[in-house]
Amino acid sequence: MIDPLISLEALSVEYPLGRAMLGQPPVVRALNKVTLDIPRGSFFGLVGESGSGKTTLGRAILCATPISGGRITLHDEHGPLDLRTMTKDQLHAYRRRAQLIFQDPYAALSPRMTVRDIIAEPLQVMGLTKSRADTDARVREIARLCRLNLEHLRRFPHAFSGGQRQRISIARALVCDPDFVVADESVAALDVSIQADILNLLKKLQHELGLTFLFISHDLSVVAHVSDYVAVMYLGTLVEVAAKKELFRQPKHPYTKALLSAIPSLDPDDTGRAQRLTGEIPSPANPPSGCLFHTRCPHVRDRCRADAPKLGKGDGEGRPQVACHFWKELLD
Ligand code: ADP
Ligand code: MG
Repeated sequence: MIDPLISLEALSVEYPLGRAMLGQPPVVRALNKVTLDIPRGSFFGLVGESGSGKTTLGRAILCATPISGGRITLHDEHGPLDLRTMTKDQLHAYRRRAQLIFQDPYAALSPRMTVRDIIAEPLQVMGLTKSRADTDARVREIARLCRLNLEHLRRFPHAFSGGQRQRISIARALVCDPDFVVADESVAALDVSIQADILNLLKKLQHELGLTFLFISHDLSVVAHVSDYVAVMYLGTLVEVAAKKELFRQPKHPYTKALLSAIPSLDPDDTGRAQRLTGEIPSPANPPSGCLFHTRCPHVRDRCRADAPKLGKGDGEGRPQVACHFWKELLD
């Protein structure tokens, strides 16, 4: 059985879309009944096109966005904790142990603070160190782990390249010794040559510090590089969740197949099977009926227009989690 650190049950998040003239106000369903276990100690990849709800999912888990339905549970040493029922003290503790690495290392770092102060700030806000010497020691320790040059701690962030800035962001996220980290498009703003560097650093930190990562990216080839598990999102729902190896060995959802076939380097001999996606992703304010993917699916049938397929909760024993009525028939 999977040992989850975080589990989501039918998690929904809606954003209001202005004011209604009559009746119910219009909403964007950014997350629609998402059920998911994030295994303890795993590098968990979340992939999907822009607007599919990835950032919303990460923010909901970090209690940074209100949820409209469902439940998020943290399984810690004291047992399961429903995040909605946290006391003030529990929320304070949770804010330390669950951290975010920002998307854009240029926007995330205050230009007026030294690198040392940027990394130290969460320690001070949380009141985790007793003296300046204490803080300095912790900053130096985490900077070293993030392969930052200790000489650089006295400088300001503008002196650094994108890759170095992202290391500073990572050090800041890890300085309070969290056990769960959301990395949202953490390499998207970086040159390809630097991306691998940062991904390898995240992977190394995961092992050394025993972290659980939720790694969010619109790019499946980036997710594939580091993840143990992959969840594929489409229009606020999960369409497939699998161990990475299984996902690549035998993708089951037509959307997963389309994402995979868009990665050119994975299968150089593959000529005829590429399934390019046509059409735009529909608006989550006005989603299609039935299977949300049916408007773009090359295998669409009548049932898909009427009936929404369910992903199902994984049993950790090899039963695939795939939200498609016809996945068995469509196996390659
Ligand atoms: P992703 O990270 O996959 O690109 P997001 O979670 O950012 O997706 O967004 C999911 C959907 O919710 C999108 O349609 C987006 O426009 C909408 N959305 C996100 N944040 C807000 C917000 N604060 N207010 C209204 N709509 C939002
Ligand atoms: Mg996003």
